[in-house]
Amino acid sequence: MQMQNKRYQIEVIAEKIRNCRRCALSKTRTNAVPGEGNADSSVILIGEAPGYWEDRKGRPFVGAAGKVLDEALEEISLSRTEIFITNVLKCRPPRNRDPRSEEIQACTPFLDSQLKIIKPKLIVTLGRHSTSYLFSKMNLDFNSISKVHGRIYKARFTDWECYVIPTFHPAAALYNVNLKEDLINDFRLLREKIRLLDE
Ligand code: URA
Repeated sequence: MQMQNKRYQIEVIAEKIRNCRRCALSKTRTNAVPGEGNADSSVILIGEAPGYWEDRKGRPFVGAAGKVLDEALEEISLSRTEIFITNVLKCRPPRNRDPRSEEIQACTPFLDSQLKIIKPKLIVTLGRHSTSYLFSKMNLDFNSISKVHGRIYKARFTDWECYVIPTFHPAAALYNVNLKEDLINDFRLLREKIRLLDE
């Protein structure tokens, strides 16, 4: 059997996400947000869940938090077309409330599939929900982003190894200049690690 390429496999998952009815968020969503970008990239960014504009447009980080994310990416001269961006939950929780554990349980098989297809060398977790999920997969304790950010963690999954860089959620940095500075510094760490891995 011919091996399907990563882009095709990612699109197959995206179609499954768009048709998903595994949890109640499928009843309130306008659009599911599977994620987007370069499936052949070695870098994946993982946020929490779609917000209002993401739900409207079916694309990740296109609202106010997305502007902060774009600023951080611009700071390290990394374009959205060079990376893949997705979320823990693929559908918007009503009024942007926190994801519920049953929603995370129902939805994360999609994230796991995306990770298994892309097999990124670098995973940036944006905020506590994606960090907590990745840390649990790595059997690491997680308490707060401020304790774990600014460092790079080596992760070993069943059939590949990668590095995880936890940082703040761009929405948290919207009105907090100190957090924004921390976020941008963490992105500089990402840039440096990309450079080292490319050598
Ligand atoms: N916040 C997220 O976590 N993800 C998005 O896509 C948008 C806002």
